[in-house]
Amino acid sequence: MSRIIGPGSTVGVLGGGQLGRMFAMTARRLGYRIHTLTPDHDSPTAQIADLEIVAPYDDLDAVRRFAQGVDVVTFEFENVSAAAAACAEEHAIVRPNRGALAIAQHRVREKRFVADLGAPVTPFAAVATAADLAAAIDRIGCPSVLKTTVFGYDGKGQALVAKPEDAAAAWESVGRRDAILEAFVDLDRELSVIGARGVSGEWSAFGPIENVHRHHILDVSTAPADVDGATAALALDITRQVMDALAYIGVLCIEFFLTRDGRLLVNEIAPRPHNSGHLTIEACRASQFEQQLRAICGLPLGSPDLLQPAAMANLLGDVWDDGEPEWAAGLASPSVTLHLYGKAAPRRGRKMGHLTALAPTTADARARVLAARDALKRVRMPSGI
Ligand code: AMP
Repeated sequence: MSRIIGPGSTVGVLGGGQLGRMFAMTARRLGYRIHTLTPDHDSPTAQIADLEIVAPYDDLDAVRRFAQGVDVVTFEFENVSAAAAACAEEHAIVRPNRGALAIAQHRVREKRFVADLGAPVTPFAAVATAADLAAAIDRIGCPSVLKTTVFGYDGKGQALVAKPEDAAAAWESVGRRDAILEAFVDLDRELSVIGARGVSGEWSAFGPIENVHRHHILDVSTAPADVDGATAALALDITRQVMDALAYIGVLCIEFFLTRDGRLLVNEIAPRPHNSGHLTIEACRASQFEQQLRAICGLPLGSPDLLQPAAMANLLGDVWDDGEPEWAAGLASPSVTLHLYGKAAPRRGRKMGHLTALAPTTADARARVLAARDALKRVRMPSGI
């Protein structure tokens, strides 16, 4: 039985975004201190943290100082270099382990790992040159999607290859960098499962949660997902297998595709809490952030039970297009909760916050959260009219 990192200890968060912020809020509730390392000053996480170290992730002196000052290091951002993760590991307990990180941050390694476990994935091929791409298109066919192997999120670094003639443009658009070609999936819906695995291998999960994307960015999540029991059980089973195989400690999300002909495919692994799990803050006994904290600190996992159907809608920068949102109108329904991440500049496509609604049914929760978001954006009448 490994040592418990109890309340009063200090948790280090690599990364400064909203995931770190919500994690830090939970950790504070449980009496922990938080340090964060991030390249940007006054990050969403730093606003909640006891100590902010502002440095690039590859500044190994800064990573060393950061790791030496905490009892355990975790991530809210997975694109940390292998050197930085190894450096942190020399000075602190790092959870999840850097092997898991190395797999999840690289699309080809990730797909191979999942396929080797026997879990279903869409046909794929590694692409390092334009000639590889031509061969991959021959093998996989069109339509297909070309994605950079690293630093891809929210659809960035992706190009559709609708027909073989699109190859050159797609190769240019991903920056002629190492990539993966995936067969395009005829999607019915997208699902996610968020698993938590503790130091002794104990495991629990949220989900499946159902996710709708807009312009490749998550728009709305609902739980429970409207899927049959066998599909739900398979998604949970795959998540557990992946986490066991990685000897994972912490929270991990698997994004799945459900095809029109009923097949469940693994899309990708996020080695951290996930946007689709934000609704667990209000809807579940223990949130994804509390599970992350409990898991990495060697505490018993909390209960992921869903207390009520829930829906979450992201608030992107465009909610601010016509000026300050109508906060009072958006919060008029008592079943709606607002989260804002403390970001100053509401750029288009930037995740600024989210709303969560609880209701007796998922359809109601969805309707309530969408109505609340619409109310935020309601066009204001000029004064005097
Ligand atoms: P990703 O960054 O891989 O999660 O991709 C972002 C979004 O693009 C996914 O959530 C899907 O909506 C879409 N997408 C990605 N890969 C595929 C694929 N192979 N087939 C169809 N849609 C895809």
